[in-house]
Amino acid sequence: MTNTFVPDHSDDRDTGDAVALPRVPSGPQNAPQIVHSDVTSSADERERLEACARELIRVPGSVQPHGALLSVDLETFTVIQVSENAIDILGIAAAALTGTTVADLMGAEAVEECRAIIDHRGLAANPVSARINGRRFDVIVHEAGPVGIVECEPVIASEFSAASVHAAIHRLSTAATVPEIYARTAVELRHLTGYDRVVVYRFHPDGHGEVVGEEVVEGLEPYLGLHFPASDIPAQARQLYLTKLTRAIVLDDLPPAPLVPALNPLSGQPLDLGQAELRSVSPHHMEFMRNMGQVTTLSLSLVHGDQLIGMITCAHRSSKRLPFLLREGLSVLARQVSMQLGTAAEIERLTRIDAVRTVRASLARQVRSSEDLASSLLHGEFTLLDLIPADGATLHVDGESMSIADAPDAVIDPALLASLTGTDTAIVVSDAVSTDYPQLHVLMPQVAGVLVVPFGTDGDYLAWFRRETVSAVTWLGDQSLANRATPLTPRTSFASWSQSVAGKSTPWDRLALLEASEIRHDLNAALLRAAESELARVALHDPLTGLPNRRLLGDRMEQALAKREREVPVALLFADLDSFKAINDSEGHGAGDAVIIAAANVIRSTIRSQDTVARIGGDEFVVVCEGARAADADAAAARIVEAFSAPLLVGGSEYEVGVSIGIAIADAGQAPDDLLRAADAAMYRAKQGGRGRASY
Ligand code: GH3
Ligand code: MG
Repeated sequence: MTNTFVPDHSDDRDTGDAVALPRVPSGPQNAPQIVHSDVTSSADERERLEACARELIRVPGSVQPHGALLSVDLETFTVIQVSENAIDILGIAAAALTGTTVADLMGAEAVEECRAIIDHRGLAANPVSARINGRRFDVIVHEAGPVGIVECEPVIASEFSAASVHAAIHRLSTAATVPEIYARTAVELRHLTGYDRVVVYRFHPDGHGEVVGEEVVEGLEPYLGLHFPASDIPAQARQLYLTKLTRAIVLDDLPPAPLVPALNPLSGQPLDLGQAELRSVSPHHMEFMRNMGQVTTLSLSLVHGDQLIGMITCAHRSSKRLPFLLREGLSVLARQVSMQLGTAAEIERLTRIDAVRTVRASLARQVRSSEDLASSLLHGEFTLLDLIPADGATLHVDGESMSIADAPDAVIDPALLASLTGTDTAIVVSDAVSTDYPQLHVLMPQVAGVLVVPFGTDGDYLAWFRRETVSAVTWLGDQSLANRATPLTPRTSFASWSQSVAGKSTPWDRLALLEASEIRHDLNAALLRAAESELARVALHDPLTGLPNRRLLGDRMEQALAKREREVPVALLFADLDSFKAINDSEGHGAGDAVIIAAANVIRSTIRSQDTVARIGGDEFVVVCEGARAADADAAAARIVEAFSAPLLVGGSEYEVGVSIGIAIADAGQAPDDLLRAADAAMYRAKQGGRGRASY
């Protein structure tokens, strides 16, 4: 799940809901091949990443030989540490420089400028132009803990102008799409640097990189579209690239120049060269560059927020230094590119979110307005597959599964679902089911990617399924041991090397996971609403017949009597079955119940749809007839009595059941209880009168 091959522009896919099992690392591979785990998760690659983490990147103890570095006391600018190549660069031996001041070397005026830069005074900015022993230097200063660092780069002839950098930035600002930004950045930078190759790459969420833009001199193999493992750029280097946005390397034939003395006399520590222009190159990276045929490189960071989202590397096959000011100009250009990429990605993200939100809102509406979850989620105008693209989807609810498109028949039972994540509510997500969730793989071998969203409390779930997509990744150089002297040394050849990764689906992106959580929210809310309305129904209805109970009858009578005040007449019929006890006694209570249900249906069938029938006791039913005068009430009562003259057919047996009905016509201002009592009394009179009749 953490290894992404299909370009995925989501910023990161860690939603907290997601749970992954550890990946099984694969052994060394030979191309061409189909594997189930990829380079980025191999054991060798992990070992290389660990080795990278141990490299002395910030404090290499030496500088690149094309410039000289002095560390100075910040108060007096007295030189306390010098790179050994001072004799070659500045014409003064390191030992002779130590203890003198920078003013002795380049004059008081230059030192004053250096101080202004370190103190961030006014418009002071690197570099300071200085003349040392008759040679012109770009002097670059910065503060490093307790000391100042003064770097002297011999001035080189260059045709670049600030205007050309400005024009390039201006041209780039019109690139609108992400691919266009990548491509045009490479073009502009190759033009400005005059280097053989400029590659723009972006980092995937797992740290491995992909070349997304390139401009290369004719005759060199293109790298566009190739991937490279995370260990090509150690974590500490990435950290450094976040604060030091440019990195210039020239691999002259000369070896790195050590600092003398090795430890800084003020701090007693190796000098922190993290922000130094001349920081020397680790032996590993030097070998890496040589194997790639690079002599000069300039790397520029692409940063979005606090994330290193990519890098631009300009590389040349021979020694070709760029002046400090040009490097600074290119750094501004890279910042502009970062901002444009950030904006374009944000626009793309918001557009997608907007589209998906519209689908979810429609789905939620469908769920709310339909009694039937399955039809609202699987067969409405929008379906689960519009919300999250997949090959198929399943809704499992109340122990029943319903699917659309290509979904497996297998049901994920609640115990298995809970065992996958350790909880019964976590979303299960994987784009490599066979490695992440072997138990699921056994159940649904044809599925490579799942997103299972439990909801409710009874093992209900929604699931999306994706089939395997065998993805071919072409790497910048064979990553296997066959292409290295040792597992930890850089690759010898950088010729493209193809690898196919099987058993994986396209990954579920952050937006999919977000929408999965949201739809779960909607479903839980719908279930809650349904449960609440069921509770309300139970509270107001008779469980045996489903008719309104005495409470609901009270409400209906109140409403009817309120209308009575506006001259709408109201009649009440009170019906009690005749000699019902005898059925209970002779046929049992079950038969009695069935007769009560049958009697309820008979009464319901005789009355108008706007009238209410309630069951208020054992064999007692009440009918509220709105708009009924005495004649209407008489007719209604007669219909009921008539209906009971035929035997009730219950479970194959016939029951002779009569009914006695009391009629009461509501008076103005009469309370519900009084009206009910009046009808009850009338019913009693009907019984007295011989049963099987109606009475007032
Ligand atoms: P009458 O003609 O005077 O109405 O006599 P009756 O036999 O119908 O008796 P009455 O209406 O006074 O009482 C109704 C009987 O219904 C009392 C009780 O035993 C029985 N009963 C009450 N509730 C239920 C029930 O839910 N199911 C069944 N099977 N019987 C019930
Ligand atoms: Mg009775």
